[in-house]
Amino acid sequence: MVSFGAGEPDFPTPEHIVEAAVEACTEPSNHHYTATPGLAELREAVAEKTKRDSGLVVSPSQVVVTNGAKQAVYEAFFALLDPGDEVLVPAPYWTTYPEAVALAGGVPVEVPTEEQTGFHVSVEALEAALTPATKVLLFVSPNNPTGAVLGPEEVAAVGHWAHENGLWVVTDEIYEHLVYGDRRFSSLPAMVPESVDRCIVVNGVAKTYAMTGWRVGWLIGPPDIAEAVTALQSHATSNVCNVAQQAALAALRGGMGQAHAMREEFDRRRRLIHRMLNECNGVTCVEPEGAFYAFPSVKALFGTKIAGREIASSTDVAEVSIDEAKVAVVPGEAFGAPGFLRLSYALGDLAIEEGVSRLNRLFATAE
Ligand code: PMP
Repeated sequence: MVSFGAGEPDFPTPEHIVEAAVEACTEPSNHHYTATPGLAELREAVAEKTKRDSGLVVSPSQVVVTNGAKQAVYEAFFALLDPGDEVLVPAPYWTTYPEAVALAGGVPVEVPTEEQTGFHVSVEALEAALTPATKVLLFVSPNNPTGAVLGPEEVAAVGHWAHENGLWVVTDEIYEHLVYGDRRFSSLPAMVPESVDRCIVVNGVAKTYAMTGWRVGWLIGPPDIAEAVTALQSHATSNVCNVAQQAALAALRGGMGQAHAMREEFDRRRRLIHRMLNECNGVTCVEPEGAFYAFPSVKALFGTKIAGREIASSTDVAEVSIDEAKVAVVPGEAFGAPGFLRLSYALGDLAIEEGVSRLNRLFATAE
């Protein structure tokens, strides 16, 4: 089996981070609760890195440390939404967004993006989805599952549009350091400073430092939002694991050397998988600009038969791939984008070559 399903880096967490955690375990003061919104040093380090990487000046008191960026997404929507409030969610989307919105009593409204424009969300598409009930725009760049990275002018246009329409923005910056070629990360509230009073930034250490299992993320919001989220979290999960917070602190304070080395590796794999996918019969793949996912269309295989099976959807393609080629991919239906597959390239070159070669041989038999 070759699995392209993983949503996480395949690298181990850098050693200096693990060592900081081991040391933290031996210190009894770390065996106790921290304040609900996190260790003071960690909130300070988050404020510093946000200034460095996003160009956004925030106070440590605006930072709430959460159990991964996922909890930050949930808490942002729980803090903002009243029953029936609509949230614009550009599709294809990370599967958690609409679920989190719905759990908070809101209504997720999908905003389509197109393969032809690299899945970049446009102001026109947002405008078409706007109603009097729209309260929040969910924004994410680099994107999971498409790898789209919006340029500074595009981010500014979206931010201005949201501000002019009085919307809140929840912006997910978790893949900020995984951008390739000439693309650069642009933080929405830094591009549109007037939006900061209605903006919640979601981020974490998971993807940049290969720390998915440590469960440390955060959100940054206006003071009343940080307070409301802290109150919610104090009754839900309290503080994030103290030792994991110490590990996250070591990550943020430990320089970007290893993060950059991992990015170089992902970039090589990105170019490999992009080239190999486009060589497959019935597959077209836009070049991923960020994160670690390729998101090819397999629509040209619809109406064919592969291994005697009728192919009418990307779920059919995923099923025949796993049964006949022992290759696991995620069908686009999971991301609100039927007709596509998501392949994570957070796996070794040999596995990528073997897996996509098997798909190539299988799809070549389509008739
Ligand atoms: N946002 C996006 C876009 C993601 O892809 C993921 C992980 N799949 C997360 C947030 C969640 O990250 P964490 O592991 O920190 O909860």
